[in-house]
Amino acid sequence: MKDAAPQPVRLSEYTPFPFVVEQVDLRFTLAGAETRVHSKIRFAPNPAAERAGEIFLHGKELELISARIDGAEVSPVITARGLTCPVPSGAFTWEAEVRIDPTTNTSLDGLYTSGGMYCTQCEAEGFRKITFYPDRPDVMAPFRVQIDSDMPVRLSNGNMVEEGVWDDPWPKPAYLFALVAGDLRNFPGEFKTMSGKDVELNIWVRPGDEARAEYAMDALKRSMAWDEEVYGREYDLQIFNIVAVDDFNMGAMENKGLNIFNSKYVLASPETATDTDYDFIEGIIAHEYFHNWTGNRITCRDWFQLCLKEGLTVFRDQQFSSDMRGAAVKRITEVMQLRARQFREDQGPLAHPVRPEEYIEINNFYTATVYEKGAEVIHMLKALVGDEGYAKALDLYFERHDGDAATIEDWLKVFEDATGRDLSQFSRWYSQAGTPRLTVEEHFKDGTLTLDFKQETKPTPGQAQKQPQVIPIAVGLIGPNGNEVAETRVLEMNKSEQSFEFTGLSAMPVASILRNFSAPVVLDRKLDIASRAFLLAHDTDPFNRWEAGRVLGKEVLTQMITEGAAPAPDLLTGLSRVVADDSLEPAYRALMLGLPSEDDLAQTLFDSGHVPDPAAIHAARDALQDAMAAEMEPILASLYEQMETPAPYSPDAEAAGKRSLRGACLGLLSRRDGCARAKALFEAADNMTEELAALAVLIRHGQGEAAVQAFYDKWRHDRLVMDKWFMLQVVQSSPETMAETVKSLTEHADFDWKNPNRFRSVLGGMQANPAGFHRADGAAYRLYADWLLKLDPVNPQTTARMTTAFETWARYDADRQQMMREQLERIAALPGLSENTGEMVGRILG
Ligand SMILES: [Zn+2]
Repeated sequence: MKDAAPQPVRLSEYTPFPFVVEQVDLRFTLAGAETRVHSKIRFAPNPAAERAGEIFLHGKELELISARIDGAEVSPVITARGLTCPVPSGAFTWEAEVRIDPTTNTSLDGLYTSGGMYCTQCEAEGFRKITFYPDRPDVMAPFRVQIDSDMPVRLSNGNMVEEGVWDDPWPKPAYLFALVAGDLRNFPGEFKTMSGKDVELNIWVRPGDEARAEYAMDALKRSMAWDEEVYGREYDLQIFNIVAVDDFNMGAMENKGLNIFNSKYVLASPETATDTDYDFIEGIIAHEYFHNWTGNRITCRDWFQLCLKEGLTVFRDQQFSSDMRGAAVKRITEVMQLRARQFREDQGPLAHPVRPEEYIEINNFYTATVYEKGAEVIHMLKALVGDEGYAKALDLYFERHDGDAATIEDWLKVFEDATGRDLSQFSRWYSQAGTPRLTVEEHFKDGTLTLDFKQETKPTPGQAQKQPQVIPIAVGLIGPNGNEVAETRVLEMNKSEQSFEFTGLSAMPVASILRNFSAPVVLDRKLDIASRAFLLAHDTDPFNRWEAGRVLGKEVLTQMITEGAAPAPDLLTGLSRVVADDSLEPAYRALMLGLPSEDDLAQTLFDSGHVPDPAAIHAARDALQDAMAAEMEPILASLYEQMETPAPYSPDAEAAGKRSLRGACLGLLSRRDGCARAKALFEAADNMTEELAALAVLIRHGQGEAAVQAFYDKWRHDRLVMDKWFMLQVVQSSPETMAETVKSLTEHADFDWKNPNRFRSVLGGMQANPAGFHRADGAAYRLYADWLLKLDPVNPQTTARMTTAFETWARYDADRQQMMREQLERIAALPGLSENTGEMVGRILG
């Protein structure tokens, strides 16, 4: 039974657990539906907490077979949340045996089976589905695990003591526990640490996939070396295992010494993986590895502090990727993603602080705000204290908190102690939700440029009043001849309104504001088209140069949509010049050719008081792309030839950059050449990046039928490639027929809807086609909701996350609003709806 009204958990109500756990011994007997877990746990009173005469242990969907304290049988009181049992006044040993059934566990948290193998996912609260335990991150203990099973490979955390027996000497919370057993093959490797210790590395995959783990292994070794060089962090066990699993709710999980990955973020070969896949694999392997220090050695006191480990680890993986792949391109893609996901969240009904203050279901707070805005906050902190201050603070953090379950207060305190800076106002970035809007007005007189800034954050759910934030604003000045007359200076804004002056200028410059995206804000700046075009041509900050083109593109598209204007020539000539500039990296030029997304334009229109029409937005982007293709055809055609990369395929950043520019050229050229190049490329491509780029173009222009079939015949046995096949047909479908495309794909024999990757390929693909999703008759809304209703009883976590497709309902016209609300209300009314989905739908409806 479910509680009638789920109760929120609140940050303000934190109390320490009354006991410490000195040692955990687990014995698993893996036997399908009859799986047994025997636990022996040594508890002692926690000197930092009040004494308790009884103990509460979390437990969910467990069948208790026996329980003993100090060898004597006990009969605890069991509820849907766990058990309560009287305990002796001193230290004691708890022993229990439970039965669980991993074979019917479709929620994919706790212990479950995937394609015949056993595996676990315990973050955030999956361990309570394995055995009774204080399943909270501030309870840390050393674990010893024995796995009895006829599976040839049996893995857990720590070092292997003997076959199937593992010992993890590092105290850890239960969410970092992991177990894997199956018929797996390894791709082996080794690493010598900075102090000369040898570490055995293994990537475990299904038989036949071994060769596709090579790139992930290479990324792992580079991550280990980078963390030593840049942060002085060394690996601390004799072995590091990674396992690839097909059925996984998340991207990957940083369990101590045994990372578990969604197979799509491990397996790659040139024929089957795109450049984007390689890029993700590198970034996610690094991210999970970096957690060994930021997350595992120093963990979170409670789940409200999730950003402590995630914001910092995202920031670290961004630094790593930037070192590997080039800072400008990396920064632009980070910001594009931040705006697409986090700004959207922060401007809607799901807005919440980087550190939330209450939740019903913690799995609903693994959000772009916690992860990506959390990383942006650290980006700002580093800009404010400087590189040296940051390094000092991080050294102190590792020294002071190693082995702790820490808080955001602890984190900020090390910066205050290391740099002497008061961060009390800065800490609002953790507690205040919403994206600040920064407006600027510029005045020039007698050689002085004055910038008048104003910051404002709109109310968000539960936070009507907003306080001014500390905003680092990086500014440089460009003189009339295109040369930089003032280098980048970081202005520190901490009031609602504030002015800054630049003196001694001989002529009026054009300011380049918010360089390298120095703060996660919306910059509102009135600037004429000529000045924007000037920045697009001359800005020495690569981020802002790209941004000038992007803002100009947005303004032009807005005029096309709201006034029926023609594409502005300044934009077309400005972009042509940048794209033809051989001194710029190809990957950077490819980004320049991209236009603001349909979703981004919808928000921009909404913010400026318009009701966005998804079909009109789609049509305007199409028209602008036609105009770009017509204007730039000769340049694009020559670049298309120049950017051909020689065989054999290499995933390195330079080659990938050339392919991305070539792909961007192909997309535009296909508007002129009747898809001749795309057809030829589809036939000739020897790598997935180009094969898929060609297929996308063919589908988009309604010439994909034969190619779609050929691609299917070639790749039907490869599940990761088939995910791409499903998704591409949805994303590239014409908006008018997308719902029908989705419907027929969900009836396809290979549509295994219980597999999260496959489900997201088809249903998630709908979100990447906004004009199709928001079709005026509401057909796509209904179809989408039908599938969420079907998935919820099977996999609540994935269902809950996918409700965010509706989070922007308030932007649209009354008819669409009503249709979306109807679907949300239909979901809310489902008998037995999960708490996960119930909480999300309730918040979206407001
Ligand atoms: Zn993480």
